[in-house]
Amino acid sequence: MLLSFEEFQTFEPQRETYALFGYPLGHTMSPDLHAALFAATGRDADYIAVTVPPEKLADALALAREKLTGINLTIPHKKAVIPLLDEVDPSAADLHSVNTVAFRDCKAIGFNTDILGFAESLEKDGISLRGKKVLLLGYGGAAAVMAYHCLCEGASLYISGRNLEKADALRDQLVEVLPGAKCFTCTRRRIPRDIQIVLNATPLGMFPHEDKSPLYFLPHKVSYVFDAIYNPPVTALMKLANPKRTKTRDGLFMLVMQAARAQTIWYDAQFADAACDSILRRMYGQMARKRLHDKYHKRSIALCGFMGSGKTTVGRKVARLTGLPFIDLDRYIEAQEGMTIPEIFAQHGEPYFRDLETKYVTEISAREEGCVLSLGGGTVLRPENVEAIKRTGLLILLDTPFFRIVKNLSHSTNRPLLEKEDKLAETRRLYQMRKPIYDQVADCRVRSPRLGEVVERTLKSI
Ligand code: NAP
Repeated sequence: MLLSFEEFQTFEPQRETYALFGYPLGHTMSPDLHAALFAATGRDADYIAVTVPPEKLADALALAREKLTGINLTIPHKKAVIPLLDEVDPSAADLHSVNTVAFRDCKAIGFNTDILGFAESLEKDGISLRGKKVLLLGYGGAAAVMAYHCLCEGASLYISGRNLEKADALRDQLVEVLPGAKCFTCTRRRIPRDIQIVLNATPLGMFPHEDKSPLYFLPHKVSYVFDAIYNPPVTALMKLANPKRTKTRDGLFMLVMQAARAQTIWYDAQFADAACDSILRRMYGQMARKRLHDKYHKRSIALCGFMGSGKTTVGRKVARLTGLPFIDLDRYIEAQEGMTIPEIFAQHGEPYFRDLETKYVTEISAREEGCVLSLGGGTVLRPENVEAIKRTGLLILLDTPFFRIVKNLSHSTNRPLLEKEDKLAETRRLYQMRKPIYDQVADCRVRSPRLGEVVERTLKSI
């Protein structure tokens, strides 16, 4: 729920309620994210977003003390709220930045959980900062948080950006509260060659300007890249990394964990790793659906690929995570025709089945409501099918390695096209014939032998 300040003045909470204060507040993932976290702990609580103009912050905080159990703050209130609070946690005070307030014993106490979200992102990837040479791009709010954690953990930090005076100001602020910290600034031309970790805290590369990157190449010793951006989930900076040498992470886990830690502060919520991972996957699903609309102007996701490539299994999971309905084209045809695919082939032959495919794929693609559509292995061989699918859907190729396809098909008995003496030779022949067509028609391609990875990569490919 998004409320104006005036609406918040008359708002009557129905149960324990938390809120995000910001100005302006466009699309924010916070209410959905907190709702998912409340669900994970079984907490019966609401989370609302309130547009609070800067001059109304003191009034809004006074109202929040009466009506709410805790609040989050975003731009432009993180610093301005500090003089209005009764107590401030030492790290939030060092950073002059509070993003979480808990109301306890008639006191308003400020914390910064962005630090915890960033720290847990690195921890998840097994990254130790002690003694590492770290390059930080940017010197704004997110940069300050990331810099503070790096310095507390004993890294040598180099802050860079388009305005060196502002970078110097952040360094001075940090060195004042962390005496002896190894913090330096550098222009983009003087980045040390032996940097090991790169952190992006600028909006460069964020949707819709996804081709922008704060660097043109990574120093050759870089083994980890963290980008605070989460739309897109794979940024231009992350794409510079060689996946064999360099791990990468986008900012979505940081976002999830800063919210989880706010709930820990508010009511001592404890989250198992699996619960956070599950919420993270759902957030990737929501992000994929948002990008499907915003970037591609589509409403459906269609999965193509050879038979046995995992389209049905992956499609079902992608549908659950994006909240879109799932349709398996083969099962849909069977339900409409009242016959199994082998029966249709046996009674009417392949051309008849292909005509049915065209009829139903056109029908499904024209639906107002989007879906995740798992196509048959041969559906995209007809150009008119591809045209119908792409009118409303993004076509993603599951480029499953051939050995995995063979394994997946080894127990399959309902594939009329493979009913030949030498099933393996026929599978290879068909695969080699169809593969160039899949490559040509697909908008995006996902390749991994592991099913668990394919679902996440499919969402991130959007
Ligand atoms: P901010 O306080 O406004 O700082 C932005 C920084 O980026 C400043 O150093 C700014 O430098 C620099 N910058 C902006 N436009 C630039 C450009 N065109 N070229 C070079 N530098 C540019 O913003 P913030 O709150 O730190 O957010 C920064 C990024 O982190 C955003 O993408 C935000 O979405 C993300 N973020 C993610 C999380 C998370 O949980 N994952 C949390 C917070 C923020 P100038 O001052 O010179 O413009």
